[in-house]
Amino acid sequence: MAYRKITGEFKLEVVKEYWSTSNVSQTARKYAVSRDVVYEWSDFAQKAILESFANSTPGKRTVSLVEETKNLREQLTELSNTYRRLSQKLGEATFPSEVVSNCRKCNSENIWKNGKVYTKSHGLRQRISCRVCSFSVYIAIKKTL
Ligand SMILES: [Zn+2]
Repeated sequence: MAYRKITGEFKLEVVKEYWSTSNVSQTARKYAVSRDVVYEWSDFAQKAILESFANSTPGKRTVSLVEETKNLREQLTELSNTYRRLSQKLGEATFPSEVVSNCRKCNSENIWKNGKVYTKSHGLRQRISCRVCSFSVYIAIKKTL
């Protein structure tokens, strides 16, 4: 057998032939190599391909992270919209904007404006307190110019 330089291109050609035919004997005969060598190069090529796929993962991951971030942002927007709607409803119940003339707890009419208070959920509110039971409600401050 004449000396033949075995290049990477040659090995790849053998491996591709083997992969397309799935016939190791035929491939070995066609390229005049041993079947063991065909298996060996095939395994080597497979590992190399898997490795190169693994190495390309960070690039793909960035893409999916961008998409994931986008999805999470959309979910967050939806959630905060829902939260805002719900807390507005709660706020309407807890902080009536109508004029208060009776204590909501003891129904006494002996109530007074007890200063403006900064609330975490609604900002500045007028506090109205009951002189009888000290119960307070916080109502929206009417903007008067
Ligand atoms: Zn009261």
